Amino acid sequence: MSQETMEALVVLEPNKLEIQQIPVPHPGPNEVRCRVRAVSICGTDAHIIRGDYPGFWPPAFPFTPGHEWAGEIDELGENAAALGWKIGDRVCGTSHNACGVCQKCVEGRYNLCENYGKAGLHKQYGHNSQGVDATYAVHNVKCVFPLPDSVPFDQGAVIDPASIALHVARRGNIQPGDSVVITGAGAVGLLAADAALICGAARVIVAGRGYRLEKAAQLGFETIDTTAGDPVAALKARVPLGADVVLECAGVPETIEWALAMLRRGGRCAVVGIPTEKVSLAIQPLVLDELELVGCRATAGEMRRVIEFVANGKMRVGELITHHFPLREYQQAIDTFNDRSSGAMKIIVEP
Ligand SMILES: [Zn+2]
Ligand SMILES: [Zn+2]
Repeated sequence: MSQETMEALVVLEPNKLEIQQIPVPHPGPNEVRCRVRAVSICGTDAHIIRGDYPGFWPPAFPFTPGHEWAGEIDELGENAAALGWKIGDRVCGTSHNACGVCQKCVEGRYNLCENYGKAGLHKQYGHNSQGVDATYAVHNVKCVFPLPDSVPFDQGAVIDPASIALHVARRGNIQPGDSVVITGAGAVGLLAADAALICGAARVIVAGRGYRLEKAAQLGFETIDTTAGDPVAALKARVPLGADVVLECAGVPETIEWALAMLRRGGRCAVVGIPTEKVSLAIQPLVLDELELVGCRATAGEMRRVIEFVANGKMRVGELITHHFPLREYQQAIDTFNDRSSGAMKIIVEP
C-alpha cells in the first residue's frame, strides 16, 4: 500500500517557502490527530520564516511552522479515548507540550517547563517541533481543548493568542475598578484590552498608532496616539495619578519606558512584548514608588478559561480577523501579514 500524503507548508530555508506533499502523521500514546481547518498567522511565524532565531526556532530547516489553530479530531492515539476524546470532536490548539514532571510543571507553570526543548520531554509545536500548517496535525491531548459548536474554526484559531492575552492580564493582577493602559495595538494588545475588561478594569486605554489604533477605538477603547506627542503626558492628562496597571504588548524599548512612566505609585507592569535589544530603565522610580515589573510567557492554564469568553463574545477574536487564504497561497498570506499597508490584524490560512 502506498503511503498517504498531505499538503504541508515547508520552509526550506529562511524566506523560501514551498507547499509539499509529505507523509500523513499518526498519533502515538496520549496524542490525537486532527484535520486542521484554520491556522492563524502569528508574529512568531513571520520571525521563524525570516530565520530570525537561528538554531532555536526552528532547530533546523526544512520546517513546518504554525501553532495557532483549530480543527477536528480524526484519529485517536492510545489512551486518548480513555481521556475523553472522540473522533469528530472540534478542538482548538496551543503550542506548549511540556514535560509534566518538573517542579514548574507540577506547580502548573508549564510555560516555564525546566525541560524546555529537551528531546523526548518537551515540545513546542511550530517552534521547536513541527507545526500545524498542513492538512493534518498530531498533538498531545494536553494541547487541545474542546471548541464549542458556536465558535467557528477561524475564531478557534485565535484562541491561543487570546489565552496569552488573558495570561498577561492575570499577571498584571488587575483589580476591579483599575485604570489599565495597553501599550501596543496589535492583535495581542487588543485581545489584552478585552482581557483587562474581563478581569474587572474600569477604564482601558490603548496606546498605539495607525489603523490598529483605529481598530481599538472601534472596539470602544479610549486611545492614545503615540505619534501625536508624548504618550506619558497624554495619559497623565486623563489619569493624573497614573495607571494602576500597564500591559506592555509592543516589545520595543521606548514602549517599555513609557509603560513604567505611566504607572501610578505602587502600580504594576506586565510585559509580554519581547524586545530584541537591551532596554535601559529608570530604576529609581521603581524603588521609590514600589513599582512592579513582571514578565509573561505564553499561557499557563488560560485556554479553557478563555474559550468561555470567546463563546460569550467578551473576548472579541472575530473582530480581529481581516483576511482568509487557502494554505496553498501561504506566500501571499505571509506577504500580506508583513505589509503594514494591508490593514492586516489576524490572517487565517485554511489547509
Ligand atoms: Zn502565536
Ligand atoms: Zn516541565
